[in-house]
Amino acid sequence: MIPNRELHIAGAGPAGLAAAITAAQAGFTVVVHEKESDVAGRFHGDFQGLENWTSSTDIISEIESMGIEPSFDHIPHHDLVCFDPSGRKLSASSSRPLYYLVRRGTGAGTLDRALLQQALDLGVTVRFGDRVDHLPEGGIVATGPRGVDAIAVGYLFETGAPNGAWVAIDRQLAPGGYAYLLIHDGQGTLASCMFEDFHREAVYLERTLAFFSSKVGVELENRRRFSGYGNFELPRTTVQGQLLTVGEAAGFQDTLWGFGLRYALVTGHMAARAYLAGSAESYEEMWRRRFAGQMRSAAVNRYLFGIAGDRALSWVLGRVAAHGDPHAWLHRLYAPKLWKAALYPLVEKRVASRRHHKECLTAGCDCTWCRCQRHNELAEGV
Ligand SMILES: Cc1cc2nc3c(=O)[nH]c(=O)nc-3n(C[C@H](O)[C@H](O)[C@H](O)COP(=O)(O)OP(=O)(O)OC[C@H]3O[C@@H](n4cnc5c(N)ncnc54)[C@H](O)[C@@H]3O)c2cc1C
Repeated sequence: MIPNRELHIAGAGPAGLAAAITAAQAGFTVVVHEKESDVAGRFHGDFQGLENWTSSTDIISEIESMGIEPSFDHIPHHDLVCFDPSGRKLSASSSRPLYYLVRRGTGAGTLDRALLQQALDLGVTVRFGDRVDHLPEGGIVATGPRGVDAIAVGYLFETGAPNGAWVAIDRQLAPGGYAYLLIHDGQGTLASCMFEDFHREAVYLERTLAFFSSKVGVELENRRRFSGYGNFELPRTTVQGQLLTVGEAAGFQDTLWGFGLRYALVTGHMAARAYLAGSAESYEEMWRRRFAGQMRSAAVNRYLFGIAGDRALSWVLGRVAAHGDPHAWLHRLYAPKLWKAALYPLVEKRVASRRHHKECLTAGCDCTWCRCQRHNELAEGV
C-alpha cells in the first residue's frame, strides 16, 4: 500500500497506539498525530474494566499475542456484586477474571502511559498538539468517538474504604445504563453511565452517590467531578481507499454497556496487520470475522435491556447470581446467536447512533451531552 513503509496514524488512544506498536515492530516508520498535548486527553485517572468475557482467550494473553506488553497496572476481578432495581444485593464469583481493572490517564501505571512508552521505545514519532483533518497519503484513523450516544458522569476520589467493585442496574440512578463504584488501594471512581435523559445528569449523579454511600458506606475524600461519552455506530465501511478506521472512530463499541477498550486495541492491531500485508481489504475481513456477530448480539441485547421492565431485570440478575459463574453467563450473553442475527435487522435502527440528532442542543447548555456534541461537531474531519 505505502511503498516507503511509512504509516501515519491520527489519534494516540489505545486503538492508534496498538496500531503504532504493531507497525513499528515490523520495521515501519510510524508517525502518530495527536491533537492533545498528551495521551488520554478525555480521561482523568478513572478506573475502567478491560472486559474478559467476549472471548475465550484471556484479554491479557491476547494483548501479549499482539506483541503488546501488559506493562500497565491490571488487577483481575473475579467477583460480580450487583444491585438490582429493587436495591437487592446479588453476588457471584467466577474462576476466570471477569475483567481487569485498569486506569486511564497520564500517570504512571495507566494503560495510556504504558502504550505510549512502548510505542516510543520502538521509535514511533508521536506529534502532540498536532490535530490532523486528513491523512492525504492514507493511514489509520483512530480519533475516538464521533458522536454522543451514552455519557458517564462521576467522581474520582480518595477513600479509606476497602477494595471492591459494585454495579447497580437501576433507571433511577442511570437511565438505560448502570451505575458503578470501583475502589482500589485508596483510589476510587464512582459514576452513572446513562443512555437517556442526559440533561438531568446532575440528578442521577447525586442519586448514585447517595445510593453507594448508603449501600456500601463509602466516603469520598477530595472528590473531583469527571464526565465522558461514547459512540455506538455499528460500523459499515472501515476502509476508504488507503484509509483504515479503527476503535471508536469506526464505531467499535459494546452497544450494550460501553466496554470499548478491547475493540480499540484489537482493531488497531488488525488494521496495522492489514497495512503490513499490503491489503486494506483484509482488515475488513478480519474484524467482520471476529466482531460482526458479537456486535449484532450486543445491539440486540441493548434493545432488550432497554425495553425490559424492572421485574424482568431483577429476575435476570437473580438468575446470573444463581448460575454461579458470571463469566460463563456474560460470555453466552455476548456470543453470536442465530435468533439474535435474525432479530438484528428489526432492532438495528432503534439502537443506531444518535450522532446526527441535534434537537437537544439547547443554546448555551453546559451538560455533558451538549458540550460533547459541540466538541464533536468541531472535530469532524479525518
Ligand atoms: C467515562 C468512560 C468510562 C469508560 N469505561 C470503559 C470501561 O470500563 N471498559 C471499556 O472497555 N471501555 C470503557 N470506555 C470506553 C473506552 O474508553 C473507549 O472505547 C476507548 O478509549 C476507545 O479508544 P480509541 O483509541 O478508539 O479512542 P480514544 O481513546 O478516544 O482516543 C482517540 C484519540 O484521538 C485523538 N484525536 C481525536 N481527533 C483527532 C484529530 N483530528 N487529530 C489528531 N488526534 C485526534 C484524541 O485526542 C484521543 O487521544 C469508557 C469510556 C468513558 C468515556
